[in-house]
Amino acid sequence: MARARIWAVANQKGGVGKTTTSVSVAGGLLQRGFRVLLVDLDPHASLSLYFGAAPGPGVHDLISTARTQAGDCLRDTPLDALQLLCADARLATLDRSLLQQAGAAAVLGRKLAPLSQFDYILLDCPPTLGVLLVSALACADLLLMPTQTEPMAVRAVDGMLRSRALIEKSRGSALPGRIVATLFDRRTRAGCDSLRQLERSYPELLSDHCIPVDTQLREASRLQTTVDRLDAHGRAAVAYRLLTEELLALDRDAAGKAVADAA
Ligand code: ADP
Ligand code: MG
Repeated sequence: MARARIWAVANQKGGVGKTTTSVSVAGGLLQRGFRVLLVDLDPHASLSLYFGAAPGPGVHDLISTARTQAGDCLRDTPLDALQLLCADARLATLDRSLLQQAGAAAVLGRKLAPLSQFDYILLDCPPTLGVLLVSALACADLLLMPTQTEPMAVRAVDGMLRSRALIEKSRGSALPGRIVATLFDRRTRAGCDSLRQLERSYPELLSDHCIPVDTQLREASRLQTTVDRLDAHGRAAVAYRLLTEELLALDRDAAGKAVADAA
């Protein structure tokens, strides 16, 4: 069985739509009939709370306990074909406990590797550049960087791209990706200016599909579902569906290139 493709959803800034994007892209993949695992790597555990996960084994146990396997930590969600690996506040202590441990950043990729029952694994990353974010970027096949269309958030993109460059150097392979503009409100000057700035600064990297502000995303989270199941024709649902298609095409290209390079 082929191994799952791993997509990291990351930005070193909070509140930019990482968790919302992880869930919504997972929804797009489910709609295409893929089996998906969502992994919550953020100590704030927003993704785990989104699906109302009860306390229990999760990413902290997986990374800090050698004998714990990913299969022991999987949780069901209210959605068929979607499972979850949970976070909790203990994840915040990993940076300290793993600081001295050589190869710590490789543990996550190694633990996820046996999960061939999934087609896609989505990593909802924490907003700080610590061992969890480095671990995620080290094992990812694709990087999705949600960026709020707001001036301060746009400035944070360069920091994320510097981190990507460092990881690419240490792992010796490119990490293809897209920036996706989120929380876009076309009625505001700041929103339109920020989107234009992203288009100017990152013409190659910026996704063609920007995600509008849409209250249905909050409603989907209240109902523990994905926005496309709430209203497949809603603005955010359509934008996330198109983004998912774009990512699938990018990932297919990357997978093809990796096979060609290895031959
Ligand atoms: P992060 O994971 O980067 O911290 P979240 O995905 O949790 O960000 O989003 C922050 C807040 O903004 C949440 O309350 C979420 O429901 C809301 N949100 C995210 N994207 C949108 C959107 N496109 N429209 C409206 N609200 C959104
Ligand atoms: Mg989050």
